[in-house]
Amino acid sequence: QIILGIETSCDETAAAVIKNGTDILSNVVASQIESHKRFGGVVPEIASRHHVEQITLVIEEALQQANITYEDIDAIAVTEGPGLVGALLIGVNAAKAIAFAHGIPLVGVHHIAGHIYANRLIREIQYPALSLVVSGGHTELVLLKESGSFQVIGETRDDAAGEAYDKVARTLNLPYPGGPHIDRLAHEGTPSIKLPRAWLEGSYDFSFSGLKSAVINTLHNAEQRGEEIKPENLAASFQQSVIEVLVTKTISAVKEYDVKQLLLAGGVAANKGLRAALTEAFKEVPGVELIIPPLSLCTDNAAMIGAAGSILFEKGKQSNLALNGNPGLDIEAF
Ligand code: ATP
Ligand code: MG
Ligand code: FE
Repeated sequence: QIILGIETSCDETAAAVIKNGTDILSNVVASQIESHKRFGGVVPEIASRHHVEQITLVIEEALQQANITYEDIDAIAVTEGPGLVGALLIGVNAAKAIAFAHGIPLVGVHHIAGHIYANRLIREIQYPALSLVVSGGHTELVLLKESGSFQVIGETRDDAAGEAYDKVARTLNLPYPGGPHIDRLAHEGTPSIKLPRAWLEGSYDFSFSGLKSAVINTLHNAEQRGEEIKPENLAASFQQSVIEVLVTKTISAVKEYDVKQLLLAGGVAANKGLRAALTEAFKEVPGVELIIPPLSLCTDNAAMIGAAGSILFEKGKQSNLALNGNPGLDIEAF
């Protein structure tokens, strides 16, 4: 079974070819980070324009690297949402055009289902599994009772983890996207500054906006008093607060739902501190396998969309040519 995956939900134009749901034959990503950097974040109109320019090239490159033609493809999996609507539309329309022209089945995929199933490219998924999704727009714990089923047991009530990283980075005058820079700085400092942790006891929900404000206030107050705060210590303290809450809640959920695996997912899964802390914490929960995808499969890519699409296609899910980009797509309902 050969699946062509296409992803254009945000600022990466990506296409990949996946064999039997697990083998990556090609995985091409054209990143737009350089174009958005000077604006300090993703500019939707610029993202759409870049997707238009890149999509055909990226798809052709993916087919070429996989050494296949359109005739070899069994299904096209494309991100239908959530994301920027103008960006989503480019991928969806490219997928529809190819599907129509070559008579290939089409499968719409939820972007976060893609992030979660990136783990399938590493290891066979065993259910029930729990996924900790930490990305630019999402922070949630998703329970997978069986293949292709998603139940959100907790989610952020305000900022996503990645969003908090990017905003804190901006306050420290670090370039966009700030996550990797904070991660690097955090390893050079010590977590000596007291910052809050939003435990939200009794739920698996998260909150990061209070922490973000505390970081900004700490900097501001120090500035007013003429005191100096070492950015690396602030980064280390911020990162420790984020990680402590993420890891503690994840471990509780793993125990409560008695899952077989924990699937780490999303761009913030690239965080070295988080990866190390989870690895350490899972030593205390024997029998539960921790799966952490390599960095290239944590940030946006189309291999993950192909992997998720393959599961849905096997389950008989197909989209028709009325498929549309849906910025508010719900993972439990799609
Ligand atoms: P979503 O997947 O929710 O739609 P997105 O696709 O924009 O959002 P991703 O591409 O999955 O998000 O992840 C991007 C985010 O990951 C950014 O906020 C970035 O700062 C963050 N990130 C990347 N690497 C790291 C890192 N090492 N530490 C912390 N954050 C990181
Ligand atoms: Mg991105
Ligand atoms: Fe993403």
